[in-house]
Amino acid sequence: MRPRIPTQLPPPFNQLPRYPILYHEPSPIHPLPTLSQISTRIPHADSSPRICIFAKREDQSSPLACAGNKYRKLEYLVPDIFSPTPTYHYHESHPTNQTLQGPATILVTEGALQSNHTVQVTALARKLGLKALVLLNRDTGSGYKTSSSPDHFAQLGNVQINKLLGAEIRMYNADDPEATDAQPVLEELRKSGQRPYWIPGGASLHHLGGLGYARAAFEIAEQESECRLGGSGLFDFIFVACGSGSTVAGLISGFKLVDSLRMGSGDNWPRGPRNIIGILNSPTRPRAYHEERVLRFARTAGQLIGLFNSEREITMDDVHLDDRFVGEGYGVIDDETRKALSMMAETEGILLDPVYTAKVAAGMMHWAQSEEMIKYAEKNRLGEVNVLFIHTGGQAALSAYFDRVV
Ligand SMILES: *Cc1c(COP(=O)(O)O)cnc(C)c1O
Repeated sequence: MRPRIPTQLPPPFNQLPRYPILYHEPSPIHPLPTLSQISTRIPHADSSPRICIFAKREDQSSPLACAGNKYRKLEYLVPDIFSPTPTYHYHESHPTNQTLQGPATILVTEGALQSNHTVQVTALARKLGLKALVLLNRDTGSGYKTSSSPDHFAQLGNVQINKLLGAEIRMYNADDPEATDAQPVLEELRKSGQRPYWIPGGASLHHLGGLGYARAAFEIAEQESECRLGGSGLFDFIFVACGSGSTVAGLISGFKLVDSLRMGSGDNWPRGPRNIIGILNSPTRPRAYHEERVLRFARTAGQLIGLFNSEREITMDDVHLDDRFVGEGYGVIDDETRKALSMMAETEGILLDPVYTAKVAAGMMHWAQSEEMIKYAEKNRLGEVNVLFIHTGGQAALSAYFDRVV
């Protein structure tokens, strides 16, 4: 049985409208005993801390198809989708472009061919009784180009599921104008009498996109006590994928607020910062590009949830992104990623996805055995370091990688 613990958000956070897409119960957190053992048994000094790894199963957070981190973000977008006067517009400079006469009739979004985000938008649309149109870019990353069978890559996995869910799919190449500007598509829909609502890739450029994971921070903070953690009593390190950025950004802002409230208050409240590490998965853009975005998204979410001084309260010191595990390209499985995928399957019986979470697992295992973590434990006098791996979903893409996973 999952514990029924209410997520108590403070005002004004608890007044922000949210439409439930996830299960009422928090997504589970459970230990990864074998992985913890592997990480602890290392040829370092005798004083090596015990590494206790847990997983938060965002891939089991919702009854809708292919549960993953985008549903949590979308919960905060639905009220805007249903509003006759939505606050989010395709271009800030053309706010009238999304003026809808009445609530949206179709959700439009974009992604790479094997995008998990588009599947979650489509499933949500269907659940809400709306249509979905997804724009898929064959040239985002190198998954398509490097596949031994690009035709299969463009039909299996999330593409098949998008079709099953009844999305209208349009595929583009990087040099097609639609790959960078969805405006003509939105115009076309309007002319045909539909009312499109545009959701940017990963929902991260949407000003409400960071709220879901700000709420997740409160959920995790509540679950920390149920996990009966040793050491600091907190998850000292939290590893999560960073793609479009609002997942890690939401967590950063949410934990800022958690800490500022000293939830649970009193002397029992454990001390010490949680280190939130975003593992990047694409070498396309430099780390600084992602850091700037994550900081911006974290501040935007911070403002909304009640960190009214978020410009001051959230700084670059809060943003930790690791670009050492990006591999050869977005959506390309290198040896390290493949190893992590197999290791998690063969030791814990858990499926990761080839694009995001396998790279996070590779990064986390590297960190768990690093000098840095040992030094952290020594500095904070911890015999035990608690590590949380956030499983953000995405396993449905596996079949598109049939030629490269096993
Ligand atoms: C989209 C996605 C991510 C990245 O989340 P962002 O908020 O875009 O950084 C991580 N894991 C999976 C499985 C995803 O689908």
